[in-house]
Amino acid sequence: MSHPSTIREAARDASVVANTDVIVVGGGPAGLSAAVAAARNGSKVTLLERYPYLGGLASGGMVLVLDDMHNGLEISVRGIAMEIIERMAKWDLAIFPPESDRREEVRGTQDMWRKWSRWGVFDFHSRTKPHPVIFAAAFDPDGWKRASDDMVREAGIDLRLHSWFSHAIVEDGRIKGVVCETKEGRQAVLGNVVIDSTGDLDVAASAGAEFADGAYIVTTVFRLGGVDTDAAERFEYAEPERFAAVDRQAKRIIGGSWNYWWLKTPLPGIVWCNCPHMTGFDGMKVADLTRAEFEGRDRIHAMVDFVRANLPGFEKCHIIDVAPQTGVRQTRLLQGDYVVTKEDITRRVHFADSVARGRDYYTPYRAMLPQGIDQLLIAGRHYSATPQAQRISREIPPCMAMGEAAGIAAALALNADKTVRQVDATDIQRKVRAQGGDPGDQPASNALILEAAE
Ligand SMILES: Cc1cc2nc3c(=O)[nH]c(=O)nc-3n(C[C@H](O)[C@H](O)[C@H](O)COP(=O)(O)OP(=O)(O)OC[C@H]3O[C@@H](n4cnc5c(N)ncnc54)[C@H](O)[C@@H]3O)c2cc1C
Repeated sequence: MSHPSTIREAARDASVVANTDVIVVGGGPAGLSAAVAAARNGSKVTLLERYPYLGGLASGGMVLVLDDMHNGLEISVRGIAMEIIERMAKWDLAIFPPESDRREEVRGTQDMWRKWSRWGVFDFHSRTKPHPVIFAAAFDPDGWKRASDDMVREAGIDLRLHSWFSHAIVEDGRIKGVVCETKEGRQAVLGNVVIDSTGDLDVAASAGAEFADGAYIVTTVFRLGGVDTDAAERFEYAEPERFAAVDRQAKRIIGGSWNYWWLKTPLPGIVWCNCPHMTGFDGMKVADLTRAEFEGRDRIHAMVDFVRANLPGFEKCHIIDVAPQTGVRQTRLLQGDYVVTKEDITRRVHFADSVARGRDYYTPYRAMLPQGIDQLLIAGRHYSATPQAQRISREIPPCMAMGEAAGIAAALALNADKTVRQVDATDIQRKVRAQGGDPGDQPASNALILEAAE
């Protein structure tokens, strides 16, 4: 019997469960920031998340270093990103180098390298060796969940977990709301502004926005417990050649990692392993994602057997957890009012309408606006950029800075009875700065100021 390749579903009703000012879809780092910023600026906010926790890749993906927030001279991402670090640090669940260790005279020394490199808080873009220590934070994924729960509660946000966005409601070129699949059936949420923070551009793609198909390595991150990190570091420095041989073999078995495949976490004896990096998987395809989860876990088990037998400090290690979701870095990318290029990032091009900042690059407001759809903003790793540009500008802190700017832009629009496209970028800049963020309105001395980039 042959089966049809598609079927047509009958029209179905969705119950309207909320009527709000701002709908934020996706509770990852960008979505959290967007929701909190909009609520703090007077908007009624509903935040929708498919999983039972907030954090996206920062918790479920177990990406445990917040970086790209220091340009070598100064901390370049502040605002809500800094706030969540401070909240976690109060519980000893975020660790970062103090200012005294980041002073020009000491930050590039061997001593500082030994003290901080296994925390992953160094400038890996720097050409000098050892790489200088910078401001970045190693944190705990459950600390992130706790801090974001608090922030959402305090801001009075209507959070709806277990809500899987399925399609956008668009009328006459304007987004009016979204529909989610839930255990209770289809549910609709209606609002005046929608912020897509799904990381994969789910909302904007459903609304008909133009996008590019991006792809990059995917990684099934994991944590090991029972590691004697002091013994491991002693071995690394006392017997560099033997260490290099074992380390090389471990990396060969896992089949793809950065130079440092394990880093310390705030929990003693527990290390974060940002590997295996795997190629050839499409983060939008069910079959690819299923294969990636299996392949990731298989590679992890093989490596753990090897390091238990061969790497001093790891003799009694065990897997604490494999991240609940394989880490996908890049899928659909908005092609919005402006598309950020790799040259914009590497040449540090400054934009007059910059509303967010990363390490040493700037995000124009236009890169958060889809063409042809009103009242929709995009914030996060799916922002309007070329695939090459996104690879080097998608870390958690800059995504949070984008979220914060989007939340503020939405509130400004609603308060002034404007559309989000009509909001003046200088008003967003002023508000972001007044609230402790850095919109990149005052370019660093090494930024390239181009008239044409406005
Ligand atoms: C393996 C790996 C290592 C990385 N290393 C680092 C690092 O060391 N430091 C760093 O700063 N960055 C790192 N990054 C990059 C960083 O983690 C991401 O770019 C960042 O988390 C993006 O934030 P986001 O909020 O845009 O997206 P995400 O973190 O992907 O969050 C998107 C959220 O939307 C939700 N969502 C998606 N679709 C739907 C839907 N249909 N309905 C409802 N909810 C939905 C998701 O569940 C998630 O909560 C790494 C990424 C990976 C994958």
